[in-house]
Amino acid sequence: MSTQTTVDSNELFIGGGWIEPRGSERITVVSASTEDLAGSVPEGTNADIDGAVSAARQAFDDPDGWSSWAADDRAQALERLADALESRGEETAQRVSLQNGMPISIAMQTEAVFPAVLARYYAGLIRQTTLEEERQGLLGGTIQVLRKPVGVVGAIVPWNFPQCLSMFKLGPLLASGCTAVIKPSPETVLDSLLLAEAIIEAGLPPGVVNIVPGGRELGAYLVEHPGVDKVAFTGSTAAGRKIARRCGELLRPVTLELGGKSAAIVLDDADLSQSVEALFGATLLNNGQTCYLGTRVLAPRARYDEVVEMFAGLAGALAVGDSLDPATQIGPMVSARQRERVEGYIEEGRAQGARIVAGGGRPESQDRGWFVEPTVFADVRNDHTIAREEIFGPVLSLIPYDGVEDAIALANDSEFGLGGSVWTNDQERGEDVARRVQTGSIGINHFVIDPAAPFGGVKASGIGRELGPEGLAAYLQLQTIYKTPPLQPDAAP
Ligand code: NAD
Repeated sequence: MSTQTTVDSNELFIGGGWIEPRGSERITVVSASTEDLAGSVPEGTNADIDGAVSAARQAFDDPDGWSSWAADDRAQALERLADALESRGEETAQRVSLQNGMPISIAMQTEAVFPAVLARYYAGLIRQTTLEEERQGLLGGTIQVLRKPVGVVGAIVPWNFPQCLSMFKLGPLLASGCTAVIKPSPETVLDSLLLAEAIIEAGLPPGVVNIVPGGRELGAYLVEHPGVDKVAFTGSTAAGRKIARRCGELLRPVTLELGGKSAAIVLDDADLSQSVEALFGATLLNNGQTCYLGTRVLAPRARYDEVVEMFAGLAGALAVGDSLDPATQIGPMVSARQRERVEGYIEEGRAQGARIVAGGGRPESQDRGWFVEPTVFADVRNDHTIAREEIFGPVLSLIPYDGVEDAIALANDSEFGLGGSVWTNDQERGEDVARRVQTGSIGINHFVIDPAAPFGGVKASGIGRELGPEGLAAYLQLQTIYKTPPLQPDAAP
């Protein structure tokens, strides 16, 4: 399924319109499935970031501008944005799938629809949020408490769910009255053109959202730009640490959504035959290129062989192919570099003595594209590299445990704490175990992100939360106005 036409742009979306880039370099994207040219856009430069931040700054500082709009007016703009995103949903899904290898069936359920869902969710939420309240002070005075937008946000997103993760940030920041400069990953720039079109169609004021594609240096420049008030980052833990360091020095608020190595805990009473689809979603979704996946599968020793057989069967039966083919369940890795990385981990797993029970190589059916077979390792110890580091590919590590206490200890013996799942026929038991896992989110017999639930990590998986009302709070800062002084103590008689 080769790409017929390429998507090419010569301009950047800054200040509400398409403008000439300051530099002359371009970012070229190829299809992850076929290696055919998919398109190209101008690569943003520091001067473009300067222009974008200045546009966002002006839009934010305008006393009659976006941040001063009534919440209901911003909500209506978000609803128009939702409509504009929705009408481009299928095209967005196709562009994402073409670039990063996400199976189109998954892109149609996520990238095509979730951004609009988020825009509508935050439109509804901002209407219900109390942005100002009067309190009676303990000392007798009257106090006004304001929730104000934090300002200009530098938003940096990865390539794995580029549109969803952009809207994880844009939904709440727009609802709160902030403005933004988004820096998409160089791997996924073509879908960001559709986001810009949707923003224009929704009639957001100029400069409220600006998009400047580029690599990590450009991201680093945005992070420390003096015109930026807050940084919202999703990406690797390594980059997150650098950004946290810089934001620490600048005392700049930052939200960090980072990597994971979550546990899928199979309890001894689980009936996995009923859960194959949910297990796939919780462990292998998007070719393993999803941050919250339970890539360490913990299985009771008494049922270990059965669980190994089940996962080997599941992985072996998955349809591997061109990401744009609706029948595909596992597409290619995003890039040659990412495939090399995944293959490096598979080699390391072998070298450390883990046993491959499915996959382990490149699929013979694919002679182009960055494919890796869905791979399952048995006999993995929790101290093996493949059990400790995030692989970000379709590679699962099956680890035996002895008793629930051991399972919980293994789950928690990780640098990360982002997602996870518990598989059981006993809901109460599942919840008891879930509560004891050190992680930001965990599912019972499934893992599906819901817009109403705070999402984010503990430990090296990040700082702060996106989604839910908590995701909105991350873009609001508090101001207290002491309106009237405390009552004077009664004069002594
Ligand atoms: P990455 O960290 O290499 O890049 C992410 C983004 O940050 C890109 O736009 C990149 O250009 C930019 N960047 C990189 N270094 C930077 C720096 N020093 N300063 C500023 N910007 C910088 O990650 P990736 O390979 O694109 O994405 C995969 C990673 O993202 C995985 O680790 C995955 O777990 C994580 N992720 C986390 C979540 C979450 O919500 N926790 C969601 C999706 C992906």
